[in-house]
Amino acid sequence: MDMDTIVGISTSTGGPISIIRMSGKESLAILKKIFFWKDSDSPKSHRIYYGWIVDGDEKLDEVLVSVMLAPKTFTREDVVEINCHGGALVVQKIILLLIKNGARLADPGEFTKRAFLNGRIDLSQAEAVMDIINAKSEMSHKAALDQLQGRLALLLNASCEALLTILARIEMAIDYPEYEEADITAHDIRLELEKIMGGIDKLLSTAKQGKIIREGIKTAIIGEPNVGKSSLLNALAGEDRAIVTHIPGTTRDVLRESIRIGNVFLEIADTAGIRATDDVIESEGVARSVQESQQADLVLLVLDGSQPTGHYFAHEKWEHVIVVVNKSDLPQKIDKTTFASAAIVEISAKHHIGIDKLGEKIQEIFLHGQIEYGHDLVTNARHIVLINSARCSLGNALDAIDGGMYIDFAAIDIHAAYAALGEITGIVVTDELIDKIFSEFCLGK
Ligand code: GDP
Repeated sequence: MDMDTIVGISTSTGGPISIIRMSGKESLAILKKIFFWKDSDSPKSHRIYYGWIVDGDEKLDEVLVSVMLAPKTFTREDVVEINCHGGALVVQKIILLLIKNGARLADPGEFTKRAFLNGRIDLSQAEAVMDIINAKSEMSHKAALDQLQGRLALLLNASCEALLTILARIEMAIDYPEYEEADITAHDIRLELEKIMGGIDKLLSTAKQGKIIREGIKTAIIGEPNVGKSSLLNALAGEDRAIVTHIPGTTRDVLRESIRIGNVFLEIADTAGIRATDDVIESEGVARSVQESQQADLVLLVLDGSQPTGHYFAHEKWEHVIVVVNKSDLPQKIDKTTFASAAIVEISAKHHIGIDKLGEKIQEIFLHGQIEYGHDLVTNARHIVLINSARCSLGNALDAIDGGMYIDFAAIDIHAAYAALGEITGIVVTDELIDKIFSEFCLGK
């Protein structure tokens, strides 16, 4: 595909070194206009060159430049990467110089988009690139790597091909009923579809866990003032010093913290709210957090074990609740019989006691004790929706066959299933969808 030459910063700003990346057929020509180095007459592919970036007579920076010629590159185009000093001004000057000489500033995700458009990766692999960048636990990293290596695409492509074969045979049966090979019975179709359905069900059975692994467990910490909610948050964060805050510039602006616990991570929303509860009128504060907790995968209901008054309450919309009885270091006065049926963990947030047990409990609930990562997880919400939709269409096709309809009717549903699965890997996609997916990427990737 003949596309213009794009340029972007591939590193986050502020580090000592920045990488400016260029991709497109003019990359080398543009480089030659602004870079002075020894082998400039015959640059070889996949080599690093030392030299200076110059704008006319002005030297801008001393740099290392990687030259990677098509097709063995990320985008399958000629790629040039300039390792320059990381100062914002230097970087800006070099980018402007490249633009002046014919490059264009890349859109978010445009490098990866080119890798997709030029056939190096499929759509699910492109999405995996972003997942690797955002991965916060060992498992989410592994799941993204699997997806990047095309494992999901392989499974889906096999189903897509099987569906196409059925469609072709149906079409033949309709168009050339006189040929023997064209003889396909409703029974044949049913068997084939059931096989595909089996594969889809297997994938879907991993979806819930996959989504938790990729997106984390949406967690609400709730409880009355002074029971120790913020102390718990701090203790959890203290278990894993690297609190990952979200990349600035993404649209999610609720204050959240990602806290890793073993193989999963908790997405704790409205941490500012937890920290501020002391200032809020008691009932109002609790009511608001209960409201928010209804969207959560997990509710940590914190009670003060040293107080007899702490009362347990449960909301019908809560999916998973763990009652966290805090202040285990003090004499216990709480009456535990009121919540005896719930999952209970006793901790002292202040003294960091019992936090491990809480972590284990959470993993037990969400990973069912499965600490090892199993392959072939569907993790991405977009994929899950499409696989569900494919399943639904296959169900309709089977109904049509069982209802004694003409096989043409089944063909419509089979085609819909094919289209849904194809939308995951990108065999069947619209430009709008491609734009939408890549616009969620960060700049320079
Ligand atoms: P929040 O209002 O629910 O967020 O509660 P805080 O985390 O601010 O804690 C309220 C008070 O309880 C503070 O004085 C904490 O030091 C104290 N506290 C929290 N956890 C413990 C604990 O495990 N043991 C003891 N003895 N005190 C605690």
